[in-house]
Amino acid sequence: MKVSVDADKCCGAGSCVLLAPDVFDQREEDGIVVLLDAEPPQELHDAVREAADVCPAAVIALSQ
Ligand code: SF4
Repeated sequence: MKVSVDADKCCGAGSCVLLAPDVFDQREEDGIVVLLDAEPPQELHDAVREAADVCPAAVIALSQ
């Protein structure tokens, strides 16, 4: 799985960080998403998919 984020669209809601803190973080100054791991291990895939689903701004894109 490959993960990418369009940080320009991020509204800093933080749901992704709550669901997958090993993959997503937020910038301290404005809460904008920071991608920590663009190729997360298998055991994190479900959490990453859920994060992409719940992201209110559809910032998180997944590919194989
Ligand atoms: S859930 Fe989406 S909008 Fe919220 S911080 Fe994460 S990437 Fe940004």
